[in-house]
Amino acid sequence: MDLNTLTKLLNIADYKVVEIISMTDEEIHLRIEPYKKKEAVCSGCGEIHKEGYLGETEVVVEDLPMGERRVYLHIKKRRYICSKDGKSYVEKIDWLRKGIRVTYRFARHVNRLTAITTNQEAGWYLGLDDEVIYRIDKKMLEEQAKEKLTSIPSAIHLSIDEVSYLKYHRYLTNVIDTDRKLVIWNEKGRKSEVLNKYYEGIGEENCKKIDSVAIDGAKHYISSTNKYAVNALIVFDKFHVIQKLNQAVDRVRKDELGRARKEENYELIELTNCKQRFILLKNKKNLSEKQQEYLEKLCQINEPIYKAMLLKESFLEVYSCKDEKSAEECLKSWISQAFKSSLTPFIELTYKFTEKMRYILNWFRKKISSAISEGFNNKIKRLKRMAYGYKSD
Ligand SMILES: [Zn+2]
Repeated sequence: MDLNTLTKLLNIADYKVVEIISMTDEEIHLRIEPYKKKEAVCSGCGEIHKEGYLGETEVVVEDLPMGERRVYLHIKKRRYICSKDGKSYVEKIDWLRKGIRVTYRFARHVNRLTAITTNQEAGWYLGLDDEVIYRIDKKMLEEQAKEKLTSIPSAIHLSIDEVSYLKYHRYLTNVIDTDRKLVIWNEKGRKSEVLNKYYEGIGEENCKKIDSVAIDGAKHYISSTNKYAVNALIVFDKFHVIQKLNQAVDRVRKDELGRARKEENYELIELTNCKQRFILLKNKKNLSEKQQEYLEKLCQINEPIYKAMLLKESFLEVYSCKDEKSAEECLKSWISQAFKSSLTPFIELTYKFTEKMRYILNWFRKKISSAISEGFNNKIKRLKRMAYGYKSD
């Protein structure tokens, strides 16, 4: 028989049939070899060694039958001294597995069979000992379990944030792939253990590949990310920093509203009530003429709000700095300014920003943003799924 045709029929990438060793009505034994261009991958370290060639060995494995005949492949395996540990290893072949004397495609076939019938019956059908079936099946199950564990999607650029859902402060930790703008994982809770679960799920190698992580400044996310994503640049992203700033402004407004009510200062109540709050949170440039008038009036009659608005405005200058160094100076001077403002929400913010300064400035190295707005629709879908009781996939 033509060996080329047989090679094509066998269809194993990079391997050719070099000899028909024997053929009966029941069995065919083929000798196969890798093409010369196929380099040997060391089973010890996974690399290719140019030196230390020791010769070859042969293994015999069963492959899927051809016609009525059972197929046995005699495979040439190359042996090398591994330059990493000096021990000798045979080459690693993708379509073989340690400890089972069948090809991977044969093992898959066995696995499919045992899914629908007993090991004994599968063994009878294939002409194999049920002990052998058991070993193959176990191997495949182990492999599938491993796949399942690593099937949590990893990404190079991540954004982590918490969303509250339902009422009464129940939180969900979301991991977002910022390149694909997709929520790729979530779990109830917002402690570091929750995020640890994600990092452990994708495994050490994938953790090492993470290049940047945008966070909302939460301590537990920082500690978890520092521990696992050892090569990642942690960025307290602009979106969340500004959110914190707006929260401080809003707290000042609430304090003033409370005071106005106590003093029955109706003009101030009217100006600081909840309906007006978005004007304080908006970017000054985006205000209408009427809104600007309102803001000016409010600032005239209420000093704390005026100061809060000034602090917010001057903070935005940090983000218009051209580089990290000038941003650092700008941020430091803002912190000392805010510290002296005698506005509690801003003083508290100075502690937070001092502590997280490095992460805030990292934004100048990597201008990643939180996917909150972009990923919003996905997130809602995800939450809906969870609400219906689907497990995250
Ligand atoms: Zn090696």
